[in-house]
Parts: sequence; structure tokens; C-alpha cells
Amino acid sequence: TVPVVAVVGRPNVGKSTLVNRIIGRREAVVQDVPGVTRDRVSYDAVWNGRDFVVVDTGGWAPDAKGMAAQVTEQAELAIGTADAVLFVVDATVGIQDVDESVVQVLRRAGKPVVLAANKVDDLRTEGEAAALWNLGLGEPYPVSALHGRGSGDLLDAILAAL
Ligand code: GDP
Ligand code: MG
Repeated sequence: TVPVVAVVGRPNVGKSTLVNRIIGRREAVVQDVPGVTRDRVSYDAVWNGRDFVVVDTGGWAPDAKGMAAQVTEQAELAIGTADAVLFVVDATVGIQDVDESVVQVLRRAGKPVVLAANKVDDLRTEGEAAALWNLGLGEPYPVSALHGRGSGDLLDAILAAL
């Protein structure tokens, strides 16, 4: 069977942009306004000749139960069916409370986690990625989903986790 990678994280950190980068197509919906991605969408991907499935998450409704609860709930659902988790954090914003909540979900799940420090568009912002060591999830992989910077190393790490 084909391994599944769930992509989780706060709205607007660049999950869907990163999914598009990983699959090499523009199928995941990217929006400046958080909350556009529908609940969970799966895409076929291949890297170094290995097939896997990427599951994008998102879809925050600004009314119901609050953003943090929805993000962690979606993470829980997606992680349940995943072999590994790609946790995306916006390195230019840094660690937020919601990120900490997701970390707790990840710990409980006990699945392999790869930490993407996204929006590291240039060398200048690379230092901000190092702050994400504080999440306690191991090495943060600096990446620019927008420009592709670092995506090869990130994909290598994802496959190593599967
Ligand atoms: P999601 O809500 O986590 O799925 O985030 P999106 O993929 O929809 O992206 C949210 C916004 O962040 C969009 O305006 C993207 O263009 C922008 N974005 C995503 N990745 C990057 C990146 O690597 N660098 C920069 N500068 N912006 C990014
Ligand atoms: Mg999205």
C-alpha cells in the first residue's frame, strides 16, 4: 500500500502551497485569507521514485468552536490515517499557542513527525527557523513553499520518516 503523509498546522502557514510544491501541481487551494481548504484532500505524489499520498488539511470556519479547536481536531483526524505527519509552522511568525496544541496532538499520536519551518524565502530568515527547535520535535527544515527553497531536503526527510 502507498504510505500517507498528513500535512497539519495553523491556517495561513502555507500548508496548501507546500502540498502543491510536493505534488508538483497546483491542485491544493491557496488563499491569503485563512480557511479556504476543504476539510481533507488527498493527492498522489512521488519523490525519488517513491509513491506516497499527501493529505492537505484546513477549512477553518470562523464561527463555530474557535480556530484552535478546529485545527487540532483536523490534525487528529488526518493523523489517525497517516503513516507520517508533516507539521508546518510559519517561521516568520514563530511559535503560536495553536502550534503548541498541535504538538500535544502529535505527541499523543506517536507517529513520525517532520517539522517544516515555512516561509524561509531567503538566507536572512533562516535564523528564525532555528527557533522552532523549541517545539521539541527535532530538526526544523527551513523551506519556502512559495519559491521551492529547501523542498528537496524536506522531501528527503519525509521519505526517511515513512
Ligand atoms: P494554508 O492555510 O496553511 O493552507 O496556507 P496557504 O498555502 O493557503 O498560504 C497562505 C498564504 O501564505 C498565501 O498567501 C501564500 O502565498 C503564502 N505563502 C505560502 N508559503 C509561503 C512561503 O514559503 N513564503 C511566503 N512568503 N509566503 C508563503
Ligand atoms: Mg490550505
